[in-house]
Amino acid sequence: MKKIKNIGVLTSGGDAPGMNAAIRAVVRTALYYRLNVFGIYRGYEGMIDGDMVPMDYRSVARIIHRGGTILQSARSERFYTDEGKAEAYRQLQKHNIDSLVVIGGDGTFRGAERFAGLYDINIAGVPGTIDNDLYGSDFTIGYDTAINTVVEAVDKIRDTAGSHNSLFFIEVMGRDAGFIALRSGIATGAEEILIPETQTNIDSLIDKLRYNRRESKTSGIIIVAEGEKEGGAYEVARKVTEQFSEYSTRVTILGHIQRGGSPTCMDRVLASTLGYEAVKALLAGKKGIMVGQVNKKIVYTPFAKAAKEHQQIDPNILEMATILSL
Ligand code: ATP
Repeated sequence: MKKIKNIGVLTSGGDAPGMNAAIRAVVRTALYYRLNVFGIYRGYEGMIDGDMVPMDYRSVARIIHRGGTILQSARSERFYTDEGKAEAYRQLQKHNIDSLVVIGGDGTFRGAERFAGLYDINIAGVPGTIDNDLYGSDFTIGYDTAINTVVEAVDKIRDTAGSHNSLFFIEVMGRDAGFIALRSGIATGAEEILIPETQTNIDSLIDKLRYNRRESKTSGIIIVAEGEKEGGAYEVARKVTEQFSEYSTRVTILGHIQRGGSPTCMDRVLASTLGYEAVKALLAGKKGIMVGQVNKKIVYTPFAKAAKEHQQIDPNILEMATILSL
């Protein structure tokens, strides 16, 4: 096994609260084990541009509580091409970087897998995405903060919804996955949670709203994941009001507030743990893997599997959400 000496760390794809805590953990663990560590700006895009600087203990001081990512993040079209990846490798060689920790979502790991398939580079991944859709980790960094942001916003909307007999359709993030919608929907007692993983039937939804009305429910909160197949919150609201006009209808799109903010304690600890474990995994000769936590244990999942086999929604939790919303 070749000894590793120089590590690069980057954040890629959509940013997520807690990424800074992960960067800090990678940098400090690497330095502790006498490795040199480089911060690579703007994900794979910055790697291609050679936008990387040496990091020391102080480079990551006072960032554990900050949202976003000090290294910035990017989506890189060039990294999909052979030329882009070749240039990225040349830039790494220039700095003698033999190993990488990439913090991001499924796209980031697909890119890492392709890159490591072409060049001699050790890569460990850390799951950083608010979507929580990756196989191989119970939770991804940023998810807990995002759902707490949603809960705070929905609680406020509930206060006003109850005062006006209103039906609120609240759209939350999740183009392909309903984890944000489901967990925040349970936590806020939403009347309905619409997610891409299940088939929504607008007629049944209206039946349920009529039933709620008969049962004297004065307001309704419907959480809609943005990837819902019946459409976003505006579209679903339109379909419902065509047939059900008993309540006034309001739509709120929570949007990018879900990405921001100071990470929760849970995200900070998860990010610290996974950043630390990613460096330890590279030191132990592991590569081509995402480091995750399942049932409180550290697990290593090959990139291809982490990116392809999305985490599944537990049908029991769906049933529970329905029963508790009656
Ligand atoms: P999020 O889940 O928050 O969207 P992500 O990591 O899935 O994060 P993507 O934009 O899908 O975000 O991927 C990040 C970057 O990874 C892409 O912009 C691209 O540079 C690189 N990437 C993704 N797939 C590939 C691939 N097949 N080959 C090369 N690079 C890729």
